[in-house]
Amino acid sequence: MVPIIGVARHRLAVDGQGVTTLVAFHGCTLRCQYCLNAQCLKPDGFSRTATPAELLDEVMIDNLYFLATGGGITFGGGEPAIRSEFIDAFCRMAPPEWHFTIETALNVECHHLERLLPHIHEYYIDIKDLNPDIYRRYTGQDNQRTLDNLQWLLGHDGMADRIVVRVPHIPDFNTDEDVQRSRQYLESIGITRIDEFAYLRRADK
Ligand code: SF4
Repeated sequence: MVPIIGVARHRLAVDGQGVTTLVAFHGCTLRCQYCLNAQCLKPDGFSRTATPAELLDEVMIDNLYFLATGGGITFGGGEPAIRSEFIDAFCRMAPPEWHFTIETALNVECHHLERLLPHIHEYYIDIKDLNPDIYRRYTGQDNQRTLDNLQWLLGHDGMADRIVVRVPHIPDFNTDEDVQRSRQYLESIGITRIDEFAYLRRADK
């Protein structure tokens, strides 16, 4: 049983292939200044709880869409990787044809990633900024674990093709030069799919 912020059906070409259903979990290891889903950080910021079987029962309604388009489930949040036990159980019960995508900041204990590895087809990783000082100011945490986890993932055959790393311009926290430095580092370790974009300040939303 885990806390869930929401379930969004019929997403197309947002992330992951085909038609996807986004399952957004409550809870995160970071405290980003411009968090997109601030309710996931509040102790009571979830709408409900579910077991893996209950969630599967609910999302099964789109099985035919998933099968016809090569789509499936995108796990988001919050930080979905900390729900690895739930995701593991869910994916074991789900139809084997479904495509599983995770949106993660990757700042989690590696045992979560080990548990997810057999199931997840595609990773969308929001890396924030690779400069540890910028990262700490923006998220409240150290980024060494994120970098170690990224290297660990890349150690698996063919993984670079399955990873998209999102590199944000973060107003008041990093500069265009900082973003370019993050890009250069990512390219140097073999990341080929890099998505550069801009965060909005809370006041801009
Ligand atoms: S990683 Fe995502 S969910 Fe977690 S605090 Fe940052 S923006 Fe919010």
